[in-house]
Amino acid sequence: MAPQREWLERDYYATLGVAKDATADEIKKAYRRLAREHHPDARPDDARAEARFKEIGEAYAVVGDPATRKEYDELRRLGAAGFGGMPGGGFPGGPGGFGGADLGDLLGQMFGAGGGPGRGRARSGRGRPRRGADVETDLHLTFEDALSGISTTLNVTTDGPCTTCKGSGAAPGSSRVTCTGCGGTGETVVDQGMFSFAQPCGRCGGAGTVVETPCRTCSGSGRVLTPRRIQVRIPAGVRDGATVRVAGRGQAGRDGGPAGDVLVRVRVADHPLFGRRGDDVTLELPLTFAEAALGTTVAVPTPAGASRRIRIPAGTQPGKVLRLRGEGAPRTRGSGSGDLLVTVRVEVPERLDAEQERLVRELAGHDDTSRRDATFGVPTEA
Ligand SMILES: [Zn+2]
Ligand SMILES: [Zn+2]
Repeated sequence: MAPQREWLERDYYATLGVAKDATADEIKKAYRRLAREHHPDARPDDARAEARFKEIGEAYAVVGDPATRKEYDELRRLGAAGFGGMPGGGFPGGPGGFGGADLGDLLGQMFGAGGGPGRGRARSGRGRPRRGADVETDLHLTFEDALSGISTTLNVTTDGPCTTCKGSGAAPGSSRVTCTGCGGTGETVVDQGMFSFAQPCGRCGGAGTVVETPCRTCSGSGRVLTPRRIQVRIPAGVRDGATVRVAGRGQAGRDGGPAGDVLVRVRVADHPLFGRRGDDVTLELPLTFAEAALGTTVAVPTPAGASRRIRIPAGTQPGKVLRLRGEGAPRTRGSGSGDLLVTVRVEVPERLDAEQERLVRELAGHDDTSRRDATFGVPTEA
């Protein structure tokens, strides 16, 4: 995105409610929260929310992209020092304040044009293809759907060309006319005593043309927010927090630029029995003391909805992990599946009936605690 005149006027950090030195992550979080809050799907027929949603998107398109953010910060840093109250306000401290600084370079940096005073060509207007922004959205899946993968339809709202005016912003039957502020060049020459230099035309924003009769659909912006349904295929075995990219379905590009992508952030719900550890699925297996001590065979459920019998050897300790190969989640990279990791938990009964208590007491009579006491270095109880 080329630096724009409006960057000098718009504080995108304030729009997103973040500090100027916010981290990329903080900016992203603020954007996601605000976009969700003001999303037209959430607040239909609320024109103010829609306008705010658009502002938020514009702000994020600039400060959400590290390279563009750098340009923006630089422009505003220079703009504050260099432009002051322009036009007419002059430079703080007068032209002499620049010392030997090359004003052409300064303006070149600001507007991405290499020329000196009076030669820089504003690039903020139409003509240069720009890629559309990516659109982020969340998708909530059940544990099972994440394992099996799913094809689904998502509603996303993108900012695309207005179909009424075909993106020109001019009402049907009218067209954009040459800007009288700059005569169509997109820039105005400002005379500052010993300096004269060009800056993007404030009337047309550097486009060289203006809309006289604005299109009523888009209020002259040439863009409208359009809710769309997109098809997305989530691969089997997807993990919580993964991002699935749907190429080319994001914001439309401008001036012939390619569309952005839709980034689908996958949120996987917890399962009452199973957990995930990468491509492996975890399961806790409660055993009685007798089962763990004597050994047994038990049936356990698998994530695929079947059951598998597993043999518990005599003397199995709590925390022991039994591995059922290939019963985990399908691998998203490579083929095959992870494993089902079954962790043994030995349950102590909270209540015993009289007969159980009698038997446990009898067992206790045979227990040997001398090894523990020796390890701890304490005297053995009688
Ligand atoms: Zn329109
Ligand atoms: Zn103009």
